Amino acid sequence: MSSTQGESLVPWRLVENWRCVSCGRCCINHRVPLLFKEYARIEPKYGPRSVEPGEKEFYLRILPDGRCFFLSKRGTLFICRIHDEKPYACRMFPFRVSKTAKYGYGEPSFFQYGDETFNVYLEKECQGIVFGEPSLEFINRVIPRFIQLYLSGC
Ligand code: SF4
Ligand code: SF4
Repeated sequence: MSSTQGESLVPWRLVENWRCVSCGRCCINHRVPLLFKEYARIEPKYGPRSVEPGEKEFYLRILPDGRCFFLSKRGTLFICRIHDEKPYACRMFPFRVSKTAKYGYGEPSFFQYGDETFNVYLEKECQGIVFGEPSLEFINRVIPRFIQLYLSGC
């Protein structure tokens, strides 16, 4: 679902707002790692063809054409067939939250949430990013939603 390269990320301060436009880009040619509890839920329900093993964990299966096993197309929009139960990695995309500035950028990535400072980035390739001065909606609603998801860890 996401690359591990800091160069693929942009700090939140360069982003005006974000909203998913269902372009499907993050569901094609991306490996989606599964938490163990996600694997334990998805594999029995959708069958062994829905997942594939990696070196240390399981991933959602990538079909020969690069699509995620669960990606469907409806008209011009791409639809996730397990939208309500999609993995944590999918729900976090395109946001990357950490307690340290491990992807660089320093101050432009700092985000104060309650008593804590987080580092918040977005994957640049996401088509739903609008670059610019951060809007109040982005600061007060969008980013906190992803920090809460990050803190929940699932
Ligand atoms: S790349 Fe971004 S806009 Fe496109 S489907 Fe993924 S999250 Fe939505
Ligand atoms: S589970 Fe859904 S959101 Fe995640 S990569 Fe597959 S199609 Fe995309």
